[in-house]
Amino acid sequence: MDITKVNMDLFCETCNEETVHVITYAGQKIIKINCTNCHREFHASKETAFAAYTDEVMHRIKTKPERVKEEIKSAPVKSVMSMPGRLITKFFRIEKEYKSIKKELDQR
Ligand SMILES: [Zn+2]
Repeated sequence: MDITKVNMDLFCETCNEETVHVITYAGQKIIKINCTNCHREFHASKETAFAAYTDEVMHRIKTKPERVKEEIKSAPVKSVMSMPGRLITKFFRIEKEYKSIKKELDQR
């Protein structure tokens, strides 16, 4: 199974500020998130039910990507943990597209 690591700015409850977190996922499942500042680690639990959550978030990403971005940025690490990896990568792709659109608009 592929192990992928993604860096992401998230709000750390221990640091009480936004810090860089390393998200580690195997295939599409997040197995660990750790804060690079205080080195606190979160491990995915078996109770993590991300199927229903995914459908809801996927829909919102399609309809309101900017709002989802704000929510993810201010979300506690545990809520990001409940997302499958493909959701995060999809989200980042959307964010990148959004940025390039914004850049084009700014140039006018
Ligand atoms: Zn921290």
